[in-house]
This record gives sequence, C-alpha cells and structure tokens, in this order.
Amino acid sequence: MMTLLQAVNPATGEYMEDIEETKIEEVELYYHQARTSFEKWSTLAISERLIYLKKLKSVMVENMDRLAQVIVQDTGKVPTEALVADIMPTLDAITTIVKHAEKILSPKRVKTPLLLIGKKSYVEYMPRGVVLVISPWNYPLQLAVVPVISALAGGNTVILKPSEVTPLVGKYIEEIFQKAGFPKDVIQVAHGGKEVGAALTAGNPDYIFFTGSVCTGKIIQEVAAKKLIPTTLELGGKDPLIVFKDANLKRAAKGAVWGAFTNSGQVCMSAERIYVEESIYDDFLNMVKIETEKLIQGTDKDSDIGSMTFPKQKEIVKQHVKDALEKGAVLVSGTPPDKWDDSMFIQPVILANLNQDMEVVCEETFGPVMPIIPFKTEEEVIKLANESNYGLNASVWTSDLKKARRVASRLVSGAVTINEVLVSVANHYLPFGGTKDSGIGRYHSEEGLRIFCHEKAIILDRGKLNKEIQWYPYKGKYLAFLQLFQSYFRERKKWIRFLQSYLKLLRK
Ligand code: ADP
Repeated sequence: MMTLLQAVNPATGEYMEDIEETKIEEVELYYHQARTSFEKWSTLAISERLIYLKKLKSVMVENMDRLAQVIVQDTGKVPTEALVADIMPTLDAITTIVKHAEKILSPKRVKTPLLLIGKKSYVEYMPRGVVLVISPWNYPLQLAVVPVISALAGGNTVILKPSEVTPLVGKYIEEIFQKAGFPKDVIQVAHGGKEVGAALTAGNPDYIFFTGSVCTGKIIQEVAAKKLIPTTLELGGKDPLIVFKDANLKRAAKGAVWGAFTNSGQVCMSAERIYVEESIYDDFLNMVKIETEKLIQGTDKDSDIGSMTFPKQKEIVKQHVKDALEKGAVLVSGTPPDKWDDSMFIQPVILANLNQDMEVVCEETFGPVMPIIPFKTEEEVIKLANESNYGLNASVWTSDLKKARRVASRLVSGAVTINEVLVSVANHYLPFGGTKDSGIGRYHSEEGLRIFCHEKAIILDRGKLNKEIQWYPYKGKYLAFLQLFQSYFRERKKWIRFLQSYLKLLRK
C-alpha cells in the first residue's frame, strides 16, 4: 500500500502536495543500488566527481528563487532567512569543497622516523562505501545537502532521508540532484518518517551522519554501536550568550535579538540563555524589549519572523514558557501562553526573574523565547554557562578582547563567537559540531571531508634488502637493540653507539 506524506504550509495552513513515502521493503533495494553505483563512483578521480558538484551549484543558482519559495512553503520561515541561512551556506559549502577537496583528500607524505630508515610513509583517504544521511526540518536544505556533498566528494554513494516534516524540500533536493545529472543511484533520496529512518539505519550503512534531536541521536547510536558503524551526531543546543558591561550594548542587544529569534528560534545554535552583567541588566532588558517589539511577523519578503514549522515544537515552547511563569518568571515581552492562538506563529517572548530549575533555562526550547539572567562575575558566568547538558555554540560580548578570548577558551562548547552570534556555522573552513549532548564528531572544514573516508596509513619499502633488523631470528639481538634504543631515545643521543648497534643488528 502506498503511504503519502502531506506537505502543508505551516504559516498559512495551505495544503501543498502529497509525496509518496518510500516503502520499508524498498530499503534493501536502495542499499543494493547504492553499493552497485559505488563501484564506479568511488574509482572516479576527485576532479571528475567535483564536476557534478559544480553542476549542482549552477542548478541551485539558476533556481534560487524557486528553491527559496519551496523552503518558505515547507517551513514557514521568512524568505530572507531561506536565502541567507539555508541556501547561501549550502552554496558556500559546495564552493569551498570544489576548491579544496582535491588537496584535502590527496595522499599526504608524512615523516618516517630514523628507526624505519629507508622507507616512505604516507596517508591515503579511501571512501567508506554507502553513507546514510538523516536530516531535520529546521534548515532542511543545508543540513541535508552539506553532508551529502561532503560524502559524495570523497567517493561514497549516499542515501538521504530528509525530515518528513519538510517533505517538499526533500522532494526538491531529489530533483536538483537529478537536474545536476549525477550518475544513477549515486545519491538516492528516501522519503518518510521515523520508520523509514529506522529501517535505513538497520540496513548496514558504512557511515551514518545524523542531524536531529538528542533522543533520536541516542537511538541511532545504539543501533550503530551494535554493528560498529561509525557516526557523526549533530544534536541540540542550549547556547549561552554572555554580555559584559563593557560591551557595545546596542550591538549586543541587536545581536541577542537576532540570535534568539532568527528562524523563530528553531536553530540548534539559537541563543537560548542570555547572561547579562548585573550593573547593566535593566538597561539591557529595556534595549532588547525595544528591539524585539520592532520585529515584523509574517511570510512576505519584508518580514523578520515567520511561523513555527512543526506543531509538536510549538507545544514544547508553550510548555516551557508556562512552566517558567508558574515558577515565578516575569513576561517582559510577548503574549501569555494561554492567549496564544491556533496559528503556528508565536510572538517573540522575553522572560526575566528566572532560575536554573525552570525548563526554559535548562532544556532546549527551540522556539522564539529569550530568557535573560543576571550575573556578577566572570567566574560565575563561566560556571553558569557550562552548567548545561549541551555545548554547541556560545557567544561572548565585550570590548575587552583579552577577556573575551579568556572566557571563550573556558567555555565547554563546539564553537564560540566573540561580539557575534551564530556565524561560526557560516564559515565552512571552521569545524562544526558539539560537546556533551550536542553530539559527536565534526563536519565542515577539512575534517568534514575526511570523516567520510578511511584514513589509511601506508609504508613503502623498495624491497631491496633481504631482511629487516626486527625480523627473526632474535638470537643475539637483545643487547644490540637495548643499546640502539638507549642511545636513540636518550635526551642527548649517542650517535656513534647508535650506529654501532645498528650495524651489529644488520649483520645478525
Ligand atoms: P525533530 O524532533 O527535531 O524532528 P528527530 O530526531 O525526531 O528531530 O528527527 C530528525 C530526523 O530523524 C528526521 O529525519 C526523522 O524522520 C528521523 N528519525 C526519527 N526517529 C528515527 C529513528 N528511530 N531512526 C532513524 N531516524 C529517525
């Protein structure tokens, strides 16, 4: 029986399209096809594979406006954010990979120690095989396409399962790869929800790249662990944004508002805990309130904040705000949750008078909510910021750059931005990933290509000598080895003794 995924525009409630779900019985065929296409794809030169990535880029550039519309219709985000935060980073990733993949994935000569005299050493990068990419709904293009192209560049074939919450984008991704003319089955897209995702995970991929919730990440890691399948897990965050009294407060206030409310806060690196030095707390609160109340909610090109994407997420956000208000928090801006309407829009919320026990302070909210908490000292705020199960991104705002670097170095976080927010993800040269519950592994940067390859160590000997000193027989060698190693590993090496014992061993 055919199952359909219904695409509905969350901002308008308008029905868009039905997308046919991949049948569980088809999963085996997907893997078979992926393994067959791997045979040829993996033997192409990197430069040949990159030609397809360049074609993909030009298809995306030519269809950029349409692509933005599809993302907007599927997520409810505003058009500017579809362009700036989903399409642009994807194009930039392709550009960077096309420029550097050949160098990053070519064999590398490394040093050979004197004890292995006469040999050459190098590292090769070999594709792993079939990579399974499972992606989420908040940035449905970049969080699917960037891992896919990183894996493809390294010679892997890929099965992508986009989120069932944004099936239109999933379908469109399939179309743009087709338009770019990738060879058959090098990239296959499987549509569906968690059952399809679970069947694909159980289907023996050679690598799993997952972006999504902590809960699902742990389920996938358990399945993968049983078969020793390597994974990258990009999970959630509860990112601190720290404002010291000597910061450019106008900039910090605007930065905090953008960092907390962009994409309606449905960002794993959203600023979800705003720590403000006590002496400027009231002023800062007032400044962010003014900035927030200027924001335009809607769906057109001039809007700042769109709707929530996933109804379940709206309920989580509501629960967090309710919990905080019940426990004594003060609503500085926004509508009380019992007055929220049935639409998927949430008016941005600012909360004060908070404590560490509230859900909004310790759990990921993933919505347009800004909790603002005062602190007294540098030491205290570092402790507060690190008191979290998550560690994805963080930001530090101060005009004292020495202090900024000092604090940044002590935050347990995958990334830190100084007097900026979120943008570390937009620099493809930087690694991206989290600590603690925010995940395992890194992508983007050189690392982002190499994770999809076996790193193979090769030693080359020209094979002229008939034997090596460490081979059999050992008879009479112990003392000579003792002298060799003592003379070699001493702080002040004894070269004559080293040479004598080496020659002795050669003669044995
Ligand atoms: P969110 O709640 O943010 O959507 P999820 O972790 O539920 O995050 O979903 C992220 C991706 O993981 C989606 O593509 C979803 O279909 C997929 N998924 C959910 N559950 C499973 C599972 N048990 N096994 C594999 N994939 C899953």
